[in-house]
Amino acid sequence: AMVATRASDERGTAQQVDVAVVGAGFAGLYLLHRLRKAGFSAVGLDEAGDVGGTWYWNRYPGARCDIQTIDYSYTFDPELETAWTWSEKYATQPEILRYLGFVADRYDLRRDIRFKTKVTEARWDEASGRWLITTDNGPPVCCRHYIMATGCLSAPKPPEIDGVKDFKGEVYFTGRWPHDGVDLTGKRVAVIGTGSSAIQSIPVIAEQAAHLTVFQRTPNFALPAHNGPAPADRMSLLQSDRAAYREQARQSMAGVPYPQQTVVSWQLSDAERRERFERAWAAGDLVHILTQLWADQAVDVDGNKIVQDLIREKIRVAVKDPETAAALMPDDHPFGAKRPCLETNYYATYNRPNVTLVNLRKEPIKAITASGISTSGRSFDLDVIVFATGFDAMTGAIRAVHPITGRGGKSLSDVWAQGPQTYLGLTVEGFPNFFMITGPGSPSVLSNMAVSIEQHVDWVVDRLASLRDAGFTTIEPTETAQAGWNRHMADCSMLTLHRLANTWYTGANVPGKVQGLMPYTGGVGPYRSICDEVVSRGMLGFKLT
Ligand code: FAD
Repeated sequence: AMVATRASDERGTAQQVDVAVVGAGFAGLYLLHRLRKAGFSAVGLDEAGDVGGTWYWNRYPGARCDIQTIDYSYTFDPELETAWTWSEKYATQPEILRYLGFVADRYDLRRDIRFKTKVTEARWDEASGRWLITTDNGPPVCCRHYIMATGCLSAPKPPEIDGVKDFKGEVYFTGRWPHDGVDLTGKRVAVIGTGSSAIQSIPVIAEQAAHLTVFQRTPNFALPAHNGPAPADRMSLLQSDRAAYREQARQSMAGVPYPQQTVVSWQLSDAERRERFERAWAAGDLVHILTQLWADQAVDVDGNKIVQDLIREKIRVAVKDPETAAALMPDDHPFGAKRPCLETNYYATYNRPNVTLVNLRKEPIKAITASGISTSGRSFDLDVIVFATGFDAMTGAIRAVHPITGRGGKSLSDVWAQGPQTYLGLTVEGFPNFFMITGPGSPSVLSNMAVSIEQHVDWVVDRLASLRDAGFTTIEPTETAQAGWNRHMADCSMLTLHRLANTWYTGANVPGKVQGLMPYTGGVGPYRSICDEVVSRGMLGFKLT
């Protein structure tokens, strides 16, 4: 009774809308636009001070996208596409943030967004068939539908090392970089981590710092970005038939319009393989090298090893000190099983006299002290420590809203105790009218996210509209459908090499996190077809009431 009273009290003061959208990044913005056009009232809630999501928070030096920007863009409005021109092949964070601000202005989205408002709790109220969303700022929100557009890479991972609080110098996190920037000139700087953010920022920091020490646990494969103007061949493909170009991306495996390769590595001679590899290396494009070499590279360890060896050879040539080069060569995972990085001067940076690589596999960090970092072998005096230690990916931001309480008082964290359970990566059994954009179980981080986000948003808003038009008020997946999707996820994951690496795709980067491959590995195009088939077969796997 207490709970019931509290719920009705809160509903009394709550902001009433059809839909609550948590997150005002790429996904949240498009959701708000589509929902408004479909005639729903909606509110956006974001902890950030403005729109942008990923591109609001990640302001570290060198931050850029690593999918070509002409592909990493909204495609829902041809007029928007021609109203905006990207200045580079890979745009910088400030330019992408400006773009998202431009989109927010163009469709007048900010008026529906409550910024600096963190969602702390969400509760399904059976009696009213509505969600009650609690925030840390302002009234709760009472809504029919609750959509989490909270991002796959938005919950930074806390440092695992003791003593951070004792350190007397400055501490920064790449994923929460100060808006006014940081002056690193003349300072002794440490970067902890060698993932995508580190690989982008290290060359820039090295140019400013008196000395830069990089602490590396696991080396990553990195490929040259060859940044510059958008490549003429891609631009002319896009401009000659924009609609066809976008459609090819939607049907592709990774959300970028490249053809499917059928030739396998052993059908090619050494020289032909090398020729393909050099062409891919020169293209400066992750999706190109991940999909265009030979068909067995992503599914067969032998086909993959050939690519690994060719990349290690590039690292050996780029880095002058053989010991440093060896430390930078990944040897514990197939290429592509962990997200590869795009680099500009990354390997060359280790040839600078003011840069030191510390291989934590040989000398682990013992502690962070008042004056710096000590490893098992040495102490480093530092002015600044930069944590580029990544994210609690895919489920971190969802689970941070706690509890999310569904039907019968069940909490999402209990339901997900053994790892995320979803239907299509979009919905969860027992949680009516609850949706996740690019949730675990969808292609998400294995794709150009712009394409995956648009597909999810379109699918969800179209469903809400047809639900409403047919007079239904709730939608929820069945237990059978969810179990079937989990089985299909597991089957698909046996077909690629992602399962052979301990990565943030599998939860391995977060101590104590349940292990298992979280993104759907079946590909963007096939996934889209499945979502469409669910609809054409009368909402297969969903209960509507
Ligand atoms: P986000 O942009 O992460 O937005 C989520 C928002 O939700 C955030 O603003 C957050 O504050 C808010 N939020 C979360 N929880 C709560 C809560 N409880 N209450 C209130 N607000 C909350 N993808 C690509 O496809 N190509 C790239 O090149 C690429 N580059 C990237 C580079 C970096 C440095 C990073 C970190 C990611 C990159 N990504 C890239 C992935 C990127 O996250 C997605 O492309 C996309 O920006 C995600 O948009 P989103 O709206 O789903 O989530």
